[in-house]
Amino acid sequence: MQRPGLLERLARAQAERAQLSLLRRLRTVDSVDGSRIVIGSRPLLNFASNDYLGLAQHPALREALTRSAARWGVGATASHLLGGHRDEHAALEEKLAQWTGRERALLFSTGYMANLGALGALLRDGDVCVQDKLNHACLLDGARLSGAELKRYAHADAGAAARQLHNMPDAAALLATDAVFSMDGDIAPLRELSALCKKSYATFMVDDAHGLGVLGPQGAGSLAEAGLGQDDAPVLMATLGKALGVAGAFIAGSKGLIDGLVQFARTHTYTTAMPPALAAAASTAVDLARSESWRHDRLRRLIAQWRGGAAQRGLPLLESRTPIQPLLVGASEDALRISLQMENAGFYIPAIRPPTVPAGKARLRIALSAAHEEADIEALLDELARVPAMGGAA
Ligand SMILES: *Cc1c(COP(=O)(O)O)cnc(C)c1O
Repeated sequence: MQRPGLLERLARAQAERAQLSLLRRLRTVDSVDGSRIVIGSRPLLNFASNDYLGLAQHPALREALTRSAARWGVGATASHLLGGHRDEHAALEEKLAQWTGRERALLFSTGYMANLGALGALLRDGDVCVQDKLNHACLLDGARLSGAELKRYAHADAGAAARQLHNMPDAAALLATDAVFSMDGDIAPLRELSALCKKSYATFMVDDAHGLGVLGPQGAGSLAEAGLGQDDAPVLMATLGKALGVAGAFIAGSKGLIDGLVQFARTHTYTTAMPPALAAAASTAVDLARSESWRHDRLRRLIAQWRGGAAQRGLPLLESRTPIQPLLVGASEDALRISLQMENAGFYIPAIRPPTVPAGKARLRIALSAAHEEADIEALLDELARVPAMGGAA
């Protein structure tokens, strides 16, 4: 008997990836100053950051973090249920619930864990979990781990979602979608999906990782923008590591939902609480995201400038009004080559390749931020127009 070696198999899989231009590379960033970063001692304009409002380096966030660390030290030293839950966590949960118009909120250390925890607590064997094909990996993983049957529907197609629900009319059902799709930037048909769930007695769950802070009145998110309250979308997940510039995530919803998650969400129970200093920084970030409307205005202006300029230059834009503005390339090797070419010209725009996106749909994922200047967008447009495969004249 010859047992296969796991490390050899891993090495083979890696060699295959390299062959297909799909190898990932871990790179160390030497410094960050707003939208300027230095990698390998080369200064670059960063178009890969999810810091949509430009808050990650804000002095008020640093100060909140330092003040809290001076009080508690750095680590929470225990899980939330065993002494790790501090004032800062409780205050942040209250603030997030109020901002998103929900009764309660519960913090998790990451969005990945929030989704795994919520799906695991809600779903079990025999249930069905209906999801958009382009949902974030952690929603898909959460459904698989829960034991429920995972049924995926064509991207943003509420009719296809309805068919999946109707195929299993007697199973308890949850329908989960990204609000803003992370690699495409478009927005799910939230109102249709909400109505479908009500009609079909399914629970509607929305992942607003890229909408919170960016969309809706005072940045309250995609659901606020769509006018969907707690009854319309009972399970809301959003993260603190993107527009809010910190780290962590939360689930918001009814008191009953949150009480249930405190009992049954394993990624909440069996893990160390997020450092209280991060909760303090996130709390300050929420205040700024709500009050400094110029950040939203500026972001909107930059998105309009980008889309206008890109259309004029014939760049392969996707339909998106969010800060996520991908340019579809197709083949992975082409996306890699263009990304490298852009880097040589001073722009950091990583190629996004399968399995992160479907086969044949490799792209440059351009992320805009209030930290960018108009001149940055112009420079990006001019450089892209010089790339033949991007529609440029060469
Ligand atoms: C980033 C992201 C997550 C994961 O959040 P983290 O806090 O980074 O773990 C979940 N869902 C979506 C749609 C995301 O883009």
